[in-house]
Amino acid sequence: MNTETLNIIVNKTSNSKLASINWDDLPFGRIFSDHMFVMDYKDGKWENAEIKEFSDLKMSPATSILHYGQTFFEGMKASKTEDGEILMFRPEENAKRFNISAERMCMPEVPVPMFMEALKSLLDIDRNWVPQKSGYSLYIRPFMIAMDPYVGIRPSDTYKFIIFTCPVGAYYSEPVKVKIETHFSRAVEGGTGYAKAGGNYAGSLYPAMKGQEEGFRQLIWTDAKEHKYIEESGTMNVLFVIDGKIITPQSSDTILAGITRRSVVDIAIEWGYTVEERRVSVEEIVNAMKEGRMTEAFGAGTAATIAQISAIHHEGITYDLPAVEGRDFSNKVLDYLEQYKSGKVEDKFNWIVRL
Ligand SMILES: *Cc1c(COP(=O)(O)O)cnc(C)c1O
Repeated sequence: MNTETLNIIVNKTSNSKLASINWDDLPFGRIFSDHMFVMDYKDGKWENAEIKEFSDLKMSPATSILHYGQTFFEGMKASKTEDGEILMFRPEENAKRFNISAERMCMPEVPVPMFMEALKSLLDIDRNWVPQKSGYSLYIRPFMIAMDPYVGIRPSDTYKFIIFTCPVGAYYSEPVKVKIETHFSRAVEGGTGYAKAGGNYAGSLYPAMKGQEEGFRQLIWTDAKEHKYIEESGTMNVLFVIDGKIITPQSSDTILAGITRRSVVDIAIEWGYTVEERRVSVEEIVNAMKEGRMTEAFGAGTAATIAQISAIHHEGITYDLPAVEGRDFSNKVLDYLEQYKSGKVEDKFNWIVRL
């Protein structure tokens, strides 16, 4: 297999949608750029690398992905500087995690250089889709699906690797009230929680809907065995500031290793904060809230970067947290990361890839 170059065939669309986009109204994940990257896996190798018009896929109703969910995805962002340069934030980390998911889902890897070539080529062709407005960005969705038209459970022999992109507006997430979930589970030890596997998200919808019916925007997932340890908040990693220290559950096979959380932790250490990455018990969190020692709680993920948590509910009691405006660390790190991603501060961690 040639991993040096993909020999991508480029078929540019002759009907660009660019002129029809209302750049002041970009609902998240509903507006798609002109092109997509598609590549097929067959006979043990990747072939037919192509950039073409963003368009529907054609497949047999028997296609494996439609029945058994052999699929996983990534989510990442690019932004544009005032000089028109495109900046990607730690894209190789997404490429590596893509392959961690691939292995767990019994699917073929896409070597990191191949992934990067596909990504850069697509972004280059759709440069004009990367918004330049402050806070705006291009959301990038790479994913893989099992393509065998076969109604039997086994790993597929054929796959598609696709990347498409969406221009998105500044994502401001209202502070959310969350509930510590002590019945349903998102992930179990030995399961697929550390992979961005489609089924993980399908399985989280019902518990999340139940939580919403009780008035909580999101769930804080706990370990599936005892429901005694904090794992994640919705589809974000979760961090707390208690007694001035930053405390966050360490990555494990039930917790997705988020790139945003990793970046927040690295920045915090650089800024001189004490950071504890370890098991975090529900009891510890509840006691800290009762005693007023928890000053901040927030989710971390690519879409929102930081999503503030305004209140946490546990077994019949809702604990309100201090006002968001006064949260020193999370506001500062959000501001810094947003500036970092758009190239407004020095790239001191070497996280930016330019195009
Ligand atoms: C994607 C994701 C995250 C956040 O990862 P980032 O790399 O920061 O975007 C956290 N938890 C889950 C379950 C996720 O799917």
